[in-house]
Amino acid sequence: QAKMQGGDAVHSFESHIKERVNERITLRNDLAVASENGELDLHYQPLVHAQSGVIEGFEALVRWNHPSMGYIPPPRFTSLAEETGQIMPLGEWVLRRACCDIKAINDRLGTQYRVAVNVSPLQFHRKDFLARLRHVLEETGLPASRLDIELTEGVLVNRTEAAIATLHTLRSMGIGTAIDDFGTGYSSLSYLRDLPISKVKLDRSFLQESDDGSRNAAIVQGVITMAHSLGLQVVAEGVETEAQREDLRTRKCDLLQGYLFARPMPMPALKQFLHGSTAHAV
Ligand code: C2E
Ligand code: MG
Ligand code: MG
Ligand code: MG
Repeated sequence: QAKMQGGDAVHSFESHIKERVNERITLRNDLAVASENGELDLHYQPLVHAQSGVIEGFEALVRWNHPSMGYIPPPRFTSLAEETGQIMPLGEWVLRRACCDIKAINDRLGTQYRVAVNVSPLQFHRKDFLARLRHVLEETGLPASRLDIELTEGVLVNRTEAAIATLHTLRSMGIGTAIDDFGTGYSSLSYLRDLPISKVKLDRSFLQESDDGSRNAAIVQGVITMAHSLGLQVVAEGVETEAQREDLRTRKCDLLQGYLFARPMPMPALKQFLHGSTAHAV
C-alpha cells in the first residue's frame, strides 16, 4: 500500500514537472508573437513627491494578457524571456512604448513627467544596450533627462568595469538610474558609494507593519539618511496607507509609490487620472 502511494507520488511529481515544462514551452512560443498580436501592454504607476504630493513621473510595468491563460504576472515571463533571449525584443518594446507614451503626455499637457523603465540584467549587460537606448530616445523624442532606468541589485553585484562604464555613460547622458527592490538582494553598501546611481527604491517589505515594525523603521531611516548623505534620492515602494505616507514624509523620504496614490493603470486610465489631477496635487 505504502509502495503504491509512493509510486503515485513519483508519478504525479513527474507529470507535474512535465506540465511545467510544457507550460514553459507554450509560454515561450506564445511570447514570441505576443507583441505582434497586441497582447502586451504597459501600465503606469505614479511616483509622487513625499512632501508636496506632486507627481514626478511614472513607472512603466509590462502586462501580458495571454489569449488562453489570461493575465500572467511579469516576473513569470520576464524570467523566461531572460533565459531564451526574448528579453531583448521585449525590453526594447517596453522602452520604446514607455518613452513614446510619456512623451505624448508631456507634449499634450505641457508637463515634464519622468518615466521609469525596468531593465533586466541581460539587457543592461549587452554591448549594444547604450546604442539601442540612444536610438529609442532619438526615435521617440523623449529627452534623456526624463528617463530613469531601474536595475535590480543583482545587476550590480559583480560590479564589472563594463557595468560601471555603462552607469557613467547613462549619467553623462542625463538618464537617471535607480536600484530597485533595495535591501532584498545582495545589498552591499559599497556600491552606493562607488557607483553613479541617482535613486534607491526601498523594497516594500520594509514598510510592512509587523512584530518587527520598529526594526523595519530603523532600516528605513538608515537607508534614507545614508542615501541622502551620498546624494541619492529614496523612493518608497508599496505605500498603501496614510500612516505609511505620513511616517515616510516625516523621515524625509523623497518619493512615494503605491496603491495609496494609484494602482498601475493602462494609458486611457492614466490620461483620465491626469485630467482629474492637473494643477492640484494627489
Ligand atoms: P518592481 O519593479 O519592483 O515593480 C513594483 C511592483 O509592485 C509592481 O508589480 C507593482 O504593481 C507593485 N506595486 C505597486 N504598488 C504597490 C502597493 O502599494 N502594494 C503592493 N502590494 N504592490 C504594489 P508588477 O507590475 O506585478 O511587477 C512585478 C515585477 O516585474 C516588477 O517589480 C519588475 O521587477 C518586473 N517587471 C515589470 N515590468 C517589467 C518590464 O517591463 N521589464 C522587466 N525587465 N521587468 C519588469
Ligand atoms: Mg521597478
Ligand atoms: Mg521595485
Ligand atoms: Mg519590488
